[in-house]
Amino acid sequence: MIQTFSLTLPKKKCVEQGISVSIYRGDLEHPAAPGNKWHKLKYNIDYAKKLGLTHVISFGGPYSNHLHALANISHSVSLQAVAIVRGELHPTLTPTLRDFVQQGGILWPSQRRDYTLGIESDLAKQITAFYPNAYWVPEGGSNALGIAGCYDWAEQILQQETVPQQQFDTWVLSAGTGATCAGFLAHPHSPELLVFPALKKGENLLPTINAFALKQNTNSQLDKLSIIADYHHGGYAKFPVELQEYVKQIHQLNPNVKLDPVYTAKVVYGLEQEIRKGRLKNKKLLIIHTGGLQGWSGFNQY
Ligand SMILES: *Cc1c(COP(=O)(O)O)cnc(C)c1O
Repeated sequence: MIQTFSLTLPKKKCVEQGISVSIYRGDLEHPAAPGNKWHKLKYNIDYAKKLGLTHVISFGGPYSNHLHALANISHSVSLQAVAIVRGELHPTLTPTLRDFVQQGGILWPSQRRDYTLGIESDLAKQITAFYPNAYWVPEGGSNALGIAGCYDWAEQILQQETVPQQQFDTWVLSAGTGATCAGFLAHPHSPELLVFPALKKGENLLPTINAFALKQNTNSQLDKLSIIADYHHGGYAKFPVELQEYVKQIHQLNPNVKLDPVYTAKVVYGLEQEIRKGRLKNKKLLIIHTGGLQGWSGFNQY
């Protein structure tokens, strides 16, 4: 299936500057767990199965793309997912958590302190006592197996690229933990990577991503990576009006493309700003759509 399409941005500057913009539709992969989360989870889930375990436990917020994917994938291989949810559980569950429960998953609320401590928390110890045959996945699926899955994803995208007869010199993507980016960076044939973090202080991800990439491949070419940290729009899950309007505009110009409000919207917005500043002349850009559309349930849909 062809998953790379050209993308029209609101401003016409691209053409004048010899820039081409395409998008790799990771959001169209894997119907039950689209985007990067399946790639991050697949080796983790395989490993839990290989160990003969019964439960997979992880962490996430009430609208977490990671938890959503975890429940779907676990269910499909007869593992039970357990979520430690950030904060209290309200009587009316979010759509994300409702789906989680519908896939047979179990929810545990958490207090801030326990959530922050994660697997080191007292809560985690109690939960371990409940589910002794469990495999623990860190928040976002961002461990060595998750990065290995994203390395494979880079390989898959590179193979797809031959379809439109276009060689891309730059991949453009989001970062939360940076694990997806690290997997891409570790691949010897990935092009330059231009990263727009969704969180504040995204520049701090650089050493983390580099270290993750080197673990996956000691010959990783770290100079392929550039982080532009100016487009977090106030931080994680902040979705100000200018970004809302921008996402609508992109959708009007490209009726088949929907960006997610937490990650990919900031990527395309930031990319366009950088193009307008004249910083990406003659680049053949491929935006990697990392999915996350279920996250719209936490925002007003346009
Ligand atoms: C989780 C997520 C990311 C961030 O991935 P990391 O590997 O944590 O950097 C990016 N985009 C979407 C849509 C996500 O759900």
